[in-house]
Amino acid sequence: MKTIDDLLQLTTKIYGIGDDRLYDLTDLFYYQQKWLLRYIDDKKHGRRDSASGKLMVSLAWYFAIISRFRIDLQKLLEKRYSYKCPFCLEIPCDCQKSVRKKSQKTGRPVSGNPTSLAGWQKVIGKIYPAELIEFRNLEILRQQDVFHQTFRRFRQSSGKRNLHEIEIASADYFVELLKIANNLQIDIASEYFQFFSAGCFVCHSTPCECFYSE
Ligand SMILES: [Zn+2]
Ligand SMILES: [Zn+2]
Repeated sequence: MKTIDDLLQLTTKIYGIGDDRLYDLTDLFYYQQKWLLRYIDDKKHGRRDSASGKLMVSLAWYFAIISRFRIDLQKLLEKRYSYKCPFCLEIPCDCQKSVRKKSQKTGRPVSGNPTSLAGWQKVIGKIYPAELIEFRNLEILRQQDVFHQTFRRFRQSSGKRNLHEIEIASADYFVELLKIANNLQIDIASEYFQFFSAGCFVCHSTPCECFYSE
């Protein structure tokens, strides 16, 4: 089963050189958000297959960002998300008090520290069951904004910089993507490898040769 690192390596193989040479951080966030908005537009119009492709492209830009900052996503997920929601410390998550049901002991998931991405998708599904997720498309925009703002603050602060904040923001945003994948009922790892099976989805080369800009 594919690990997060497998997806990162694939991304670096296809896009690493281009990402480093062509784009500054502002570009990376711009494209990451642009493709997320395209995903939302497809989703709104019920174009499910095309929506999932757009989500994969946005994810590739997200990977470019966390790779640049050498963020260890697997380790962060283990610290922050194994066995619980990091905000209310419950599983399933109990953050939305208004929809609180009678508390039900559910036990811990069999594997709270999976090595594969599919395993993480399952754990996140246990912490955040589909019925708890409201405003599915719009919530991701708010989360994207938090993710982006945290990096801006990090870059613009003149004094002591808090690397931990951008690590947390990266992990939390990734978990939002896993929730979306669970809602779409796709396995992100297989979808990602399939989407990029021929290399870059535009020029079909590895490494990418299309010097993408828009
Ligand atoms: Zn919670
Ligand atoms: Zn290309």
